[in-house]
Amino acid sequence: MPCSARSHAVAGMIDRLNHPDYDRWATQIKRAGGCRQPIHLRGKVDHYDQATGQLLHHYTTNTEPDGILRVPCKTRRATRCPACAETYRADTYHLIRAGLIGGKSVPETVSTHPCLFVTLTAPSFGTVHVRREKNGKILPCHPRRDAATCPHGQIMSCTDRHSSDDPRLGEPLCPDCYDYEGSVLFNAISPELWRRFTEALRRRFAKLSGLTLKALREQATISFAKVAEYQRRGVVHFHAVIRLDGPDGPDAPPPAWATADALADAVQHAASVVTAEIKPLSRTFRWGTQLDVRRITMTGDLTEQAVAAYIAKYATKAAECVGTLDRRIQPLDDLAALPIREHARHLIAACMRLGALDDLAELRLIQWAHMLGFRGHFSTKSRRYSTTLGALRAAREEHMKESEITTGRLPLFDEDTVLVIAHWAYAGQGLSAGDQLLAAAITGTRLPSAGGGAR
Ligand SMILES: [Zn+2]
Ligand SMILES: [Zn+2]
Ligand SMILES: [Zn+2]
Repeated sequence: MPCSARSHAVAGMIDRLNHPDYDRWATQIKRAGGCRQPIHLRGKVDHYDQATGQLLHHYTTNTEPDGILRVPCKTRRATRCPACAETYRADTYHLIRAGLIGGKSVPETVSTHPCLFVTLTAPSFGTVHVRREKNGKILPCHPRRDAATCPHGQIMSCTDRHSSDDPRLGEPLCPDCYDYEGSVLFNAISPELWRRFTEALRRRFAKLSGLTLKALREQATISFAKVAEYQRRGVVHFHAVIRLDGPDGPDAPPPAWATADALADAVQHAASVVTAEIKPLSRTFRWGTQLDVRRITMTGDLTEQAVAAYIAKYATKAAECVGTLDRRIQPLDDLAALPIREHARHLIAACMRLGALDDLAELRLIQWAHMLGFRGHFSTKSRRYSTTLGALRAAREEHMKESEITTGRLPLFDEDTVLVIAHWAYAGQGLSAGDQLLAAAITGTRLPSAGGGAR
């Protein structure tokens, strides 16, 4: 922070501290849970007695500090707001875990259902620098004794043992040979490839069991929860929990013939056969050959705890971990001047180029260029996997409402007899520089390194 900006921030902080409504402001900030970029709401809530029409209670933001209520931004992206991303991560963890061992309205008996942890990878779009380990030793990247020389004069070999923070990791050995277009197109089509995989899996599992799809549905269901993870090379992988249940979901076990081994066979088959085509370019995409299928058990190598933690960790990461931007590319952005990795720049350029083609408009590659073409959801689950993030949030908000009532801010109303009329409007987002300093001190959170001010 430059000197003048810092003195401005300190002045703002002193203003806030000396303001008569400082205590109320501090309460708002604490209740927003350390959110770095709280949403500002302006509005009012009126509680009426339904029988008499009498106004029982009136709340307005007019009397709040700055005339606004500050609520958490609820982002899942740690680069934007560490506090809200941590809430999201914890919620995701509980949601995945409930699907593995029960809890949050899922019965504990779900832990006896056959369950797999599956990683579906992207295919290769060219040789990139990698870090490989074997028995605790780091192996050379791509050692080739009789390595070919590519048309651009690059010898396709690398004998370096890359450290984990080597910026070359994920970068192509020859950028001119690399299929950037293929890479972003794969990201763009990967949600469709996933959807087809789940369909093919159900079909294959039915066939292995000697049943029609309809007959299978009457005996067993296959539930999913998955997250997308960006590889250093800029393509997404999917990590998924795949579980067998009875016909109505986790409440009942699947029939005895529906085993983890049969499910694993069906996964192997489905992953190897599904394709998705980008017709205007006559390009067909499939999963990479590296497929990892492992059983989740309560006690073995891969426990439910490890899986839930793993999935939750990726739920808060996005493409910026690959060295791209955490915001959309704007039409006036100078691509060459953006502070991003060269590899990401090439991938974004491929998105901009392909996104301009009318035939590919539905892939929305320009809007999702900063995500390197991927526009799917980061974490998804099938309806019957477990509870939803919305339900977890509703439970938390209910708890907060209770605390408001018990601390005397709201009288205890009977929901059935009281009519609540609320009007809310968005009034901005973020904290001023001075407020940021104070909020960090109050909530014990880190300050953003740059930007992040009031917008
Ligand atoms: Zn936040
Ligand atoms: Zn290398
Ligand atoms: Zn080359």
